Amino acid sequence: MNHLSAHGIKPTAVREAVWKKVMLQKETFSLADMEELLPDMDRSSIFRALRLFAEHTLLHVIDDGTGIQKYCVCRCENGQHLNHIHFTCLNCGQTYCFEDYLIPVVDMPEGFVAQDTEYIVKGICIKCKDKVALGDK
Ligand SMILES: [Zn+2]
Ligand SMILES: [Zn+2]
Ligand SMILES: [Zn+2]
Repeated sequence: MNHLSAHGIKPTAVREAVWKKVMLQKETFSLADMEELLPDMDRSSIFRALRLFAEHTLLHVIDDGTGIQKYCVCRCENGQHLNHIHFTCLNCGQTYCFEDYLIPVVDMPEGFVAQDTEYIVKGICIKCKDKVALGDK
């Protein structure tokens, strides 16, 4: 079965084209990254497709504090859409997916229902580690 229709999304040509690029992403990506990969497609079509994928839990949406919304492909197991930890590099701005590091589940106070969680660690990534250690940015 088509991955999109399996998630209740009507697989239009635009959505299929966006999904094809999206599913190849190993780390987080932004709308601008997708625009670059899909130069023939207009920005709002891409944005609408991403929003739809997120609504249908195919993507996680991450606000990493850079002011640019990031997305990553949901690879959650057991149908539990629990997010994994992300790492934002303060030097290069890249946000990485730590898929093996799940966000600890927190018991909510009575009457509150958790729907999504975000857990972002900020620091210096492996690629920037040496550059930053040398002292010049
Ligand atoms: Zn998920
Ligand atoms: Zn970095
Ligand atoms: Zn991620």
